Amino acid sequence: DDELVRAVHRIMSHADEVRRMAVRANADTGEDSARARRFGAQGVGLCRTEHMFLGERRSLVEDLVLATSAEERERALAALEPLQREDFTKIFQAMEGMPVTIRLIDPPLHEFLPDYTELSVKVAVAGDAAEEKDRALLAALKRLHEENPMLGLRGVRLGLVIPGVFAMQVRAIAAAAKAVPGSRPEIMIPLVAAVQELEHVKDETRRILEETGVDALIGTMIEVPRAALTAGQIAEAAQFFSFGTNDLTQMTWGFSRDDVEAAFFSKYLELGVFGVSPFETLDRDGVGGLVEIAVERGRATRPDLKLGICGEHGGDPDSIHFCHQAGLDYVSCSPFRVPVARLEAARATLVCGGSDTR
Ligand code: PEP
Ligand code: MG
Repeated sequence: DDELVRAVHRIMSHADEVRRMAVRANADTGEDSARARRFGAQGVGLCRTEHMFLGERRSLVEDLVLATSAEERERALAALEPLQREDFTKIFQAMEGMPVTIRLIDPPLHEFLPDYTELSVKVAVAGDAAEEKDRALLAALKRLHEENPMLGLRGVRLGLVIPGVFAMQVRAIAAAAKAVPGSRPEIMIPLVAAVQELEHVKDETRRILEETGVDALIGTMIEVPRAALTAGQIAEAAQFFSFGTNDLTQMTWGFSRDDVEAAFFSKYLELGVFGVSPFETLDRDGVGGLVEIAVERGRATRPDLKLGICGEHGGDPDSIHFCHQAGLDYVSCSPFRVPVARLEAARATLVCGGSDTR
């Protein structure tokens, strides 16, 4: 009833006054962003742009990946750009001047391409009557086939190998930011493992931003162990870090994030290796250790480095507590977890203190 609602609001606003860390939400659409605001999010910490290419747009991505000439590639990119501009405009409108971290495309490529086995059967059955497009697709799939796509052509690697994709996205972000005055875009490069990758993409991104006269932060995900260890170098080229603890957990433990129910998990629980899955609660000794190393080395290079987390752990109370202690500036989680994150960030401030944690 009304009284209860008022009491909840009082508690939440008290928590907001107390907490040191900001709370953002992971949101991929204008609708998600509006929902995140209703739950009290102070920005978008992760917009996963690859989700924008599923559904009807899949065929455009196929065209792009399968393009055999610069013209074909340009045509596919030109078809995607206005759609992207529209996507970003809606998010900026919903967020009304709050920071919005847009991650450049990070697809496990196989999710966008037709199934190799299915297509090869189709072409084999059709024999001489097989369609030309199917034959071309099959040949390209053979070329791009990976035994382990999660460790393959993803994230920044895709941007380095397929020219123009990242630039198209950055142009769309810049145009959307211009269309919505007051927007605060933060452009994030995924799956970086070495500063050279980041430098290459950052320089191109900066050039486009300068040409369009748009101001945006440029930063990176820290989700590969090597990125955490070389955070001092990476911070030379990044204005912010966001910890991608889903991939970081996968790569630190060597557990597949897609098979978390794997048979050996119960054995690990039995042995007391962990009490809860490390994909749910940040493993303080392992993944947490890498986070602390990256915070320390990153800030040693760039004292004003902005630090956040956008893996699933950003919505888990125990992990939020850890993030506060590690000196992060914000956590980002699913919109529905934002209220819990606001409360836990406040609790962590009360228990550990606010400004002296870093
Ligand atoms: C992560 O790896 O933690 C992350 C946020 O990125 P994604 O889950 O999209 O790989
Ligand atoms: Mg990731």
